[in-house]
Amino acid sequence: MAWTVVVAGGGFGGYFAARTLERALPPAAARIVLVNDVNFLLFTPLLPGAAAGTLEPRHVVVPLREELDRTDLRLGRVLGADPERRQLRLATIDGREESIGYDHLIVALGSVSRTLPIPGLSEHAVGFKTLAEAIALRNRVIANLETAETLEDPDARAAYLTHVVVGAGYAGLEGAAELQDFMADVIERYPRCRQQGMRWLLVEARDRVMPEVSPSLAAFATRELTGRGIEIRTNTTVDEVTDRAVRLSTGELVPCRTLVWTAGVKPHPVITRLGLPLDDGGRIRADATMRVAGFENVWAIGDAAAVPDPARPGQPSPPTAQHAMRQGKLVGRNVAAALGAGGRVKPFKFKTLGVFVDMGRYEAVAETVGIRWRGFPAWWLARSYHLLLMPGVSRKLRLVVDWTADLLFPRDTSELGTLGHPAPLGDERLLATSAGGTQAETEARS
Ligand SMILES: Cc1cc2nc3c(=O)[nH]c(=O)nc-3n(C[C@H](O)[C@H](O)[C@H](O)COP(=O)(O)OP(=O)(O)OC[C@H]3O[C@@H](n4cnc5c(N)ncnc54)[C@H](O)[C@@H]3O)c2cc1C
Repeated sequence: MAWTVVVAGGGFGGYFAARTLERALPPAAARIVLVNDVNFLLFTPLLPGAAAGTLEPRHVVVPLREELDRTDLRLGRVLGADPERRQLRLATIDGREESIGYDHLIVALGSVSRTLPIPGLSEHAVGFKTLAEAIALRNRVIANLETAETLEDPDARAAYLTHVVVGAGYAGLEGAAELQDFMADVIERYPRCRQQGMRWLLVEARDRVMPEVSPSLAAFATRELTGRGIEIRTNTTVDEVTDRAVRLSTGELVPCRTLVWTAGVKPHPVITRLGLPLDDGGRIRADATMRVAGFENVWAIGDAAAVPDPARPGQPSPPTAQHAMRQGKLVGRNVAAALGAGGRVKPFKFKTLGVFVDMGRYEAVAETVGIRWRGFPAWWLARSYHLLLMPGVSRKLRLVVDWTADLLFPRDTSELGTLGHPAPLGDERLLATSAGGTQAETEARS
């Protein structure tokens, strides 16, 4: 009888787990099922490039069917699990609920943006964790320029030209750097906006940016961003957000129309419905072999799991793609070993190879195995490293083509917010008094 191994979540952890299982388990011995809510892996380190338009959105994802040979991909949303009965519950994309039985389950459901109870935050802030959010941000920046260009009142215009990014970890810092760079390039085509100038603020609750790198590299990044005109506010939090302004803990009221929220992540909320033990941080409690405490046949990896960090005894592994990917590969081998397909179950061992923070414009900071890099060498290393990690030759080539095109041609300012959301057929909308549809028009009306 063939075993069934179910992988819940097809991001960095889940994809590498499924790929390793395909290689480690003989086809006749096991059926591998991967459940994911989209049919691609989002390559998050390249998300800032997609937001800035340097990379095509389709080039920062990896279609799972292209890269997995014999995994049964089930598109659907995990709803919960019953580990006693060995069942995973999911909602299929056509709205049905079904259960999948498993012999072994690997949970790799990742994380979501961590929000705080700040008045107006959930209504007015945009996250920076998904492809939809990255593209929405790019469209928002363009729409803001389009609206600002039409406004007579300089104060009203300034609010559209001000962007506040909260959280100076690598997502916030890279996002702010790339988007500001994009806006700095395209503002030339908006005469009024160019004359008025734009404003970017990076707000961080801690006393410095990028806790992931050493203080000297963080200081370099701070100097680079400040030199570009990005205002960095450390030891500062956000107290209130409205559709027209952000109030900071310093008491300053910043008139602005766009707040980007990148202040940390928390485990995906669905993991509270899997019947598995959680640690104080809400991640699934797993041992060093990634087995979930109290369950022989359930494993947890990536951002959703508290796998002990070999580099920092007593601490869970940090939520990074590097950790998720390596845990995915090892958990695949461990499950195969548990099913008797060779080898033995081993503990997770990994020392971070380095951190790369790409700030666009040939600037980056990096720390690799004790060596610190900055400026152009760091930028080149960051791009090479991401290229190396991207699965598939054709995917790698697409990135090289995009990066080369970005060096040769000016930026594109098309605002494609309606992409994938066509207006319903009929005359009614065509005769409406407002044009509707684009962010600029909707904002201008409000
Ligand atoms: C902008 C940004 C930049 C980053 N840059 C870096 C970097 O440079 N280096 C680095 O190491 N890390 C980086 N990270 C962190 C990295 O993306 C995560 O640590 C990594 O993705 C975690 O992998 P995972 O497999 O646990 O989760 P994910 O990769 O998030 O995968 C989870 C998967 O589960 C799916 N899913 C979620 N809920 C459900 C559900 N209910 N049902 C079915 N499927 C579901 C998701 O769609 C996703 O495919 C970055 C993150 C962001 C947001």
